[in-house]
Amino acid sequence: MTILNEMLEHNQKFVENHEYEKYETTKYPNKKMVILTCMDTRLLELLPKALNLGNGDAKIIKDAGAILSHPFGSVMRSILIAVYQLKAQEVLVVAHHDCGMSGLTPEPVIESMKERGISEETIDTLTYSGIDIKQWLHGFDNVTESVENSVGIIKNHPLMPKGVPVHGLVIDPKTGKLDLIVNGYQN
Ligand SMILES: [Zn+2]
Repeated sequence: MTILNEMLEHNQKFVENHEYEKYETTKYPNKKMVILTCMDTRLLELLPKALNLGNGDAKIIKDAGAILSHPFGSVMRSILIAVYQLKAQEVLVVAHHDCGMSGLTPEPVIESMKERGISEETIDTLTYSGIDIKQWLHGFDNVTESVENSVGIIKNHPLMPKGVPVHGLVIDPKTGKLDLIVNGYQN
């Protein structure tokens, strides 16, 4: 059985047995916060447990590295929607140690693309069109600096209202220990 079929089979029982009832909540975050964090598999359950978040407590946005790379991309838009439409009053950026984006260089990724059938020509065409693939595929060298940078972009965004605390943290993907990098109440 494929993983998709397994999921669909489970899903049917989940709904039939009313297992969703214990998760019932609203679209508004109980703890009035929006969190940008990494898509890392180790954080799937660990992060909410380590931050004492249950279903309905927070808006959670995930990408590779908890990086806000574009001030007018979908991550920033999600944060603004959370603040303006969904009653989030604080923003947290939670990156983590041992992240796949730490020290990521574009060359091996581009090599893998070529091995999977993406032609040199495609990459060249994108480059000539003004898309800096190498820059785009670049991770970060220092997780603390990356968090500070993302916090700065959010905090100083021209569409962000004043008075919304933006915090920056780094979590240990094994123990769940949080280190505070930026205390948004102080800025
Ligand atoms: Zn990560």
